[in-house]
Amino acid sequence: MTQTGNDSGAHYAVHWQEEEYIQPPASFIGQANMTDPGVFERFSLDNFPECFKEFADLLDWDQYWHTTLDTSDAPCWKWFVGGKLNASYNCVDRHLAKYKNKTAIHYVPEPEDEPIVHMTYQELYRRVNETAAVLRDFCGLKAGDRVTLHLPMTPELPITMLACARLGIIHSQVFAGFSGQACGERIWDSESRILITMDGYYRNGKLLDHKAIGDLAVEVAKKEGQEVDKVLIWQRYPGKISSKTPMVEGRDYFMNDLLKQYAGIKVEPVSMPAEGILFLMYTSGSTGRPKGVQHSIGGYLAYVAWMSKVIQDIHPEDVYWCMADIGWITGHSFIVYGPLAVAASTVIYEGLPTYPDAGRVWRIAEELDVNIFHTSPTAIRGLRKAGPDEPAKYNYNFKHMTTVGEPIEPEVWRWYYNVVGKGRAAIVDTWWQTETGGFLCSTVPGLSPMKPGSAGPGVPGIHPVIFDNEGNEIPAGAGKAGNICISNPWPGLMQTIWKDRERYVSTYFRKYCKDENSKDWRDWPYMAGDAAVVSSDGYVRILGRVDDVINVAGHRLGTKEIESAALTVEDVAEAAVIAAKDEIKGTVPDLYVSLKPGYTASNELAARISNAVSTVVGKIARPRAVHIVPDMPKTRSGKIMRRILASISNKGDVGDVTSLANPEVVEEIRKQVKE
Ligand code: ATP
Ligand code: MG
Repeated sequence: MTQTGNDSGAHYAVHWQEEEYIQPPASFIGQANMTDPGVFERFSLDNFPECFKEFADLLDWDQYWHTTLDTSDAPCWKWFVGGKLNASYNCVDRHLAKYKNKTAIHYVPEPEDEPIVHMTYQELYRRVNETAAVLRDFCGLKAGDRVTLHLPMTPELPITMLACARLGIIHSQVFAGFSGQACGERIWDSESRILITMDGYYRNGKLLDHKAIGDLAVEVAKKEGQEVDKVLIWQRYPGKISSKTPMVEGRDYFMNDLLKQYAGIKVEPVSMPAEGILFLMYTSGSTGRPKGVQHSIGGYLAYVAWMSKVIQDIHPEDVYWCMADIGWITGHSFIVYGPLAVAASTVIYEGLPTYPDAGRVWRIAEELDVNIFHTSPTAIRGLRKAGPDEPAKYNYNFKHMTTVGEPIEPEVWRWYYNVVGKGRAAIVDTWWQTETGGFLCSTVPGLSPMKPGSAGPGVPGIHPVIFDNEGNEIPAGAGKAGNICISNPWPGLMQTIWKDRERYVSTYFRKYCKDENSKDWRDWPYMAGDAAVVSSDGYVRILGRVDDVINVAGHRLGTKEIESAALTVEDVAEAAVIAAKDEIKGTVPDLYVSLKPGYTASNELAARISNAVSTVVGKIARPRAVHIVPDMPKTRSGKIMRRILASISNKGDVGDVTSLANPEVVEEIRKQVKE
């Protein structure tokens, strides 16, 4: 199907084959938490906002709320106003009666010879209480204070988060792979007086000196004007790792020492207003300076709890593994808060998925009997590249799998479904953002069929709408893409950008707001910044960032449809397309691809890839050049940085690449493109 609208630049033409539906397995439906088709009616806009009571009722409240949604400070929505609760109590204490001996956290260290830790809810409760005592009694922290965490993937990270939440302290976890500079800027922005870090951790077989990075972060924050009074250091190996930076007297303390005096102590959870702040999370920065996204306690927790139960289909007896980093929103919502709110057993893996080899993930799945698996297209592409036949060697059974973080090409989706899921798992492709707290579009796995490459309709309670540049709604099935927006507020939406309400309003609302004085939520659609198209069945296909859309002679092409076409060529592992400047056409697509191992670059292959793009998408999308490169430049969260490739193609300055996961590849690609 190729549909080309009368393209005035207001919308994009869409050119692909619609995928077939794949039904979820009967065995999955038989056990699913949500099989009531009435759920969509219950969450229709006619029942807005009261329908969200069903979300909040998954939590234990100290005091019930009186107003479901308060719009008086639009677009800073307030949910469950008047309600009081504690997030730590909801994720830990309330499960003790029934589940105290059940595993809350399975911790898998990277070294395969180190034993896996199975921490029960009772043990988690003890450790959260003791940690909270350090924060309250030793550090003097209280509700509303900010604390920066720079912790790797070990149980101490959720323990520290939950200890903060117990006291109403706002945590701001910075991804452990981030540099001292990046961490320091976030300490400064959040005005944290305390940094909590760790002596070291394993990554790709190396034990990293993490404390030294914390020292740098403190220096950077200080230069910006933010003093850090105390640095608390968890110990991965007490007494064994010596940092190249010494402990600073009166500032640095080992948690293990501090905890000794609080053994067995109980810290009463502080009853917090629903509209209190649970945490700050800086966005991954794919498109520019990261934003300090501010999430609430009641609305956020209710939202992620319901999504964990209904979309992730977590039952207390499942073993659930989300292979993201807790330093990103996916980890906050779907390793820690959501799963623990519904009494899950959640897996935390310290290391790289391909360490020491491409079978590691599947060995962990087999050993722990994981039955729900959650990861990103980047990880799936990486595992498919490194060990395409590995999953078949291991005896694990997934009932449910998730993909999140980028659009997934149908080819990659099918490998995930057939090879990883062995054709037996329901898949959800969940489209959402740091800002949105939880899922926006996804199928409900026990109710709706899957469609490779499409996220699915809005989840219950979320009503997506696609606007063209002028603010006209593009109807479902029109074959035209536009800016995807959400018509209504929802409890998981951020409260604002930390200390920057203007940026909150201008980034997400100004373009389509009908009247900035209005207190009516209908006037404030939320703009996500992604380009998308909705087919007549209501399924949403995300085409990439609005800013990445390529305009060739007036035809606007989404990055993802071109990349998906490139991936139909067997040899291709990853693809990224960017807009290269062209004197005649304005811009033309330049395509970068990397290959699966065992395949070699050749002019013949480049021509085949180019032909695949023109056949699947149309001649207009034929790349000017196909560059076969060793790897794609990626953010630390694993997303392909198209901006850098665009600078290379356009002979511009690639800017600062130190925040990339693989900065060395940039120079290699540049050399290659020059030749
Ligand atoms: P920044 O906002 O700082 O540029 P970022 O947008 O990469 O960083 P995140 O909030 O981690 O930060 O990512 C959200 C974005 O990821 C979405 O806007 C979308 O572009 C992409 N995305 C996430 N999940 C999906 C999905 N299932 N399908 C398609 N795209 C997705
Ligand atoms: Mg974003």
